[in-house]
Amino acid sequence: MLEQPITVIPRVGTRKAQLAAKLELHTLRDVLFSFPRAYKDFTAALSPDQAEIGAEALFHGQIADLIERELSRNRRLIQARLLGNRRVLNLSWFTASYRRGFSYQYMQLSRVDELWVYGTVKPGLYGPEIVGGEFYTSKPKYSCFVPVYPLAAGITNRMRLDWIEFALKHLDQIQECLPEHLSSRFLGRREALRAIHFPRSEAELAEARKRLIFEEFFLFQASLGAAVAKRRESVKHQPDGTVTKRFLERLPFRLTNGQVSAIDDVRRDMESQQQMRRLIQGDVGSGKTVVAEYACLKAVDSGGQVAVMVPTEILARQMYDRFTADFAPLGVSTGFLVGRTSSKRRKEILRKAAERDISVLIGTHALISDHVQFDNLTLAVIDEQHRFGVRQRLALSDKSNADLLVMSATPIPRSLALTLYGDLNISIIPELPAGRKPIDTRLIHPRQRDDVYRFVVQRVKQGEQAFVVFPLVEESEKLDARAAIQEMESLSIQQLAEVRVGLVHGQMGKEKDQVMQDFYDGKLDVLITTTVVEVGMNVLKATVMVIENADRFGLAQLHQLRGRVGRAEKQAYCFLIAEPKTELARQRLDIIRHTNDGLKIAEEDLKLRGPGDLLGTRQSGDPWFKLADLIRDQALLEQAAREVQKLIRDDPELERHPELRAEIKRQQP
Ligand code: ADP
Ligand code: MG
Repeated sequence: MLEQPITVIPRVGTRKAQLAAKLELHTLRDVLFSFPRAYKDFTAALSPDQAEIGAEALFHGQIADLIERELSRNRRLIQARLLGNRRVLNLSWFTASYRRGFSYQYMQLSRVDELWVYGTVKPGLYGPEIVGGEFYTSKPKYSCFVPVYPLAAGITNRMRLDWIEFALKHLDQIQECLPEHLSSRFLGRREALRAIHFPRSEAELAEARKRLIFEEFFLFQASLGAAVAKRRESVKHQPDGTVTKRFLERLPFRLTNGQVSAIDDVRRDMESQQQMRRLIQGDVGSGKTVVAEYACLKAVDSGGQVAVMVPTEILARQMYDRFTADFAPLGVSTGFLVGRTSSKRRKEILRKAAERDISVLIGTHALISDHVQFDNLTLAVIDEQHRFGVRQRLALSDKSNADLLVMSATPIPRSLALTLYGDLNISIIPELPAGRKPIDTRLIHPRQRDDVYRFVVQRVKQGEQAFVVFPLVEESEKLDARAAIQEMESLSIQQLAEVRVGLVHGQMGKEKDQVMQDFYDGKLDVLITTTVVEVGMNVLKATVMVIENADRFGLAQLHQLRGRVGRAEKQAYCFLIAEPKTELARQRLDIIRHTNDGLKIAEEDLKLRGPGDLLGTRQSGDPWFKLADLIRDQALLEQAAREVQKLIRDDPELERHPELRAEIKRQQP
């Protein structure tokens, strides 16, 4: 049953299933293993008398003075009051409705006398107010901690609650996957899954998370274990040839010490008979790509071919442009293949790869698809490897026992990296290129927002580019998202009216890539976006990063975003627009302002929040893990690594642990 598509859930048809696919929800099992990102406390309903500014809670009272006003053809404002004994809580909702007469929400509200509303109390013009609160016209069915899930357009949290309830009915089909001596140390698997969705207490939630985090590490380690056993021989590359040498001689800059020693490591690995499995780790902007280019040319010099895999199409395109610009003068041919490549183009590229007409093929996971056959693949390069599973990594290099080079910007200490990627050798590039000016990072009060945008316009007039980032609006019951998009649009017609502005947000389809491409090509001056500006986006002329509501981002995210600017000599700026409401929020932004080192940022943040803060946003979370945070959960990682080693020593193929084996397989299709 757990492998059934989610369409087995009542009221989920193919249309909703398509929308859910965006959240990686395909089967009932996916629903069970998609964890809440927060919880709402529905354990008690407060009276409006208890409404304090800033509180996020469930309120209950009599509803009065309900009205609806039309703001524009499809936009309405609904207002009402929730009555306590002494005080009143104002309620308002913006809704979109093309219906004639009253909106659906208004009709629902008009039928009841009492109401339950969950939301954050804000200071309104006429006293405390909740805007866009989630309302219930009868007593909510939950009186516990209610999970809040990641959402996508067309998928509401209410739907997700229905889905998880349905999925939890089949919990008995979940098998324990940890060996018995370990599972008894933690909450059982079923119990942990139930508790992470519907915790009865915070203590229970902490137990559930601990168990599931350990499990993530354990499975990851166990899957590596099997891979290490497979390390084998590969091509022995020649000493650096003419092309490689020419490339190194012609570099427009001096390599940093870290780059030099990484290149030495790669040279040694590639010239040996053993398969190279090397990780190049360095902060954003440390110059990992040069090392990758060196490796590519070395392979080509020895008559080999290279596959370069990058997580997204836009990054693949950038990497392709960059490699092509650098390699064409050396007479090295490049190719580009992504999921969207037309079938005609694709055929041609496949032919060229097979006939060695392309030496370096750059693309997304489309490269793994079995149809790509190389004549003589001797090197696989993977950028931002944390986005790919271990299996995918191996799939690429196993095509012909090719050497494997992976690059990562995830900031973790060396010892931790060794534990985590037990199968990889590691080269670290510890420093940024000399002469890189630290990014001037400032905290800006929202009142001074206009000054920031004036500054942006001024920079653009000097030929520079800027990013403006709004927090991801996944909270959306669609309305919030609209608000953000409108705010973005208003920026583009007001503060930024004089410059060429591109807009990118999560609800856009393919045209998103086009806009990013235009920005990359310099056809746009400012890129405004709600979603992540792709990790690794390299726009040399971008010198200004404006982050709106900066307090709503995780620090690792802020650091990544800031890394998008200041990638050349020009002085770069990062403006964090925020009015931090708590001391903690202010201190966190201070860390970003004073530190430019990703690892330090993660560590400082952890110190600030304390290791007990299991619910905080993951800072150094490797996207491979859903719950685990590499730095916060270091102790669990080490424990898992030790246990896996013991296990594999006695039973390398995990023959005595079929459930564990099955689970590893399941997670890495
Ligand atoms: P990342 O490690 O984030 O992938 P990149 O390889 O994209 O970093 O390098 C960032 C920028 O720094 C690129 O524009 C690159 O040309 C430049 N760069 C790389 N190495 C050096 C160096 N040693 N000195 C000066 N600039 C460098
Ligand atoms: Mg990079």
